[in-house]
Amino acid sequence: MRLVFECVECGGHYLPPESLVYPDGPASAIWCTGCQAAKRAAGVREDPLLARVALAAARAALARRTAEDAGPARADVRPSRPPLSRRARSGPGGVRSKLG
Ligand SMILES: [Zn+2]
Repeated sequence: MRLVFECVECGGHYLPPESLVYPDGPASAIWCTGCQAAKRAAGVREDPLLARVALAAARAALARRTAEDAGPARADVRPSRPPLSRRARSGPGGVRSKLG
């Protein structure tokens, strides 16, 4: 599962690679690609503390989503077909086997 980050600049959600490295350089934990490029162009470096907090928040969100996926969602799954009716269980086949 990939980590989802929220850009602190534009508020958008983005999915950097799992390694947090883009083909053209390291990914940011606080800025989406667009904002990161803009910040880099402006000569602004990301705050390492902010990046650590963002990374921890993304990991916590992922753990929460994983827990939700495995919890109520799975318990709500119902069988696609109803169980066999009484008539289906006591058909001619059942009678024959009893007599034989
Ligand atoms: Zn952004």
